[in-house]
Amino acid sequence: MIIAYIVQMAHLQKGLKTLIAMVKIVSAEKANMCKSMQSEVINLGGSILINGRSFKKEHIYIRAIFLFVLICIISGLLIYQQTLKKQSGILLSFDDYNPQNWEQYFDLFDDYNVKVTFFINASSPTDFCDMARSRGHEIAFHTVGHVKLTEVSEEEFFAQAIAPIEVFKEYGYEITSFAYPYGEYTDWMNEELLKYYNVVRGAYYYQLYDKDDFNKEFVESKPIDNIYYKSDEIFQADITRMLTEASINEGTIVSLYSHAIDGGDWCVMSDRIEYIFQKAQELNLKFYTYMDLQ
Ligand SMILES: [Zn+2]
Repeated sequence: MIIAYIVQMAHLQKGLKTLIAMVKIVSAEKANMCKSMQSEVINLGGSILINGRSFKKEHIYIRAIFLFVLICIISGLLIYQQTLKKQSGILLSFDDYNPQNWEQYFDLFDDYNVKVTFFINASSPTDFCDMARSRGHEIAFHTVGHVKLTEVSEEEFFAQAIAPIEVFKEYGYEITSFAYPYGEYTDWMNEELLKYYNVVRGAYYYQLYDKDDFNKEFVESKPIDNIYYKSDEIFQADITRMLTEASINEGTIVSLYSHAIDGGDWCVMSDRIEYIFQKAQELNLKFYTYMDLQ
């Protein structure tokens, strides 16, 4: 990335040098100042020698304009790249396995340009995985059978949390993010899982992260299930507080999760999820998948 930037800047400098020389020759010709610039620019009748390179006079304006436009485009792209890097965002994920419910909201996600991560319980990819991936969402992992990892043997831990990576790979799925069922883990598990996953996610509280924090790291996530919010007012105030903090601090990420979009305790109501989408638009926050940040 840094090397590409240096190469781009080197090309830009070279182009700029030639452009300056061209502008000089055009100005010099107009003002009959060629004599004073002979060390740099030599007029050879039909063509002109600039820093040892020959240019036909009739093409000089076209080349100058072309170079100017090219420099503008490259500068614009670099500025755009920097702006994207600074844009704060939201990681929204859904845990367990509720494909019929989740599918109903694909269109709503599209309406707000929302990409989400599904941390699923499954032993191999399903039709839902294909559909979600084709809509730009990420398939991540949550163990095969939603077991409490702190209560199983080491062998079972590998079978539930690590072995399926290879199975998914055989079907063309690269699984790089993992979420703990019940949010329960030990330090040993984090170390072991991070050998295979880029991000391991918890399930308890809100923490604001930098975009660079999602490479071989454990990160927390804030549950937004209905059970935690007794009223829409409390929900909206909490969401506004978290998203505003992210928008004020450039290049930061808020991680939120639920299980389904519905009226149950362990779901988030659809008008509440839409409130998040509208607030994100208002605050210019982008929705990322976990893989986007790795
Ligand atoms: Zn779960």
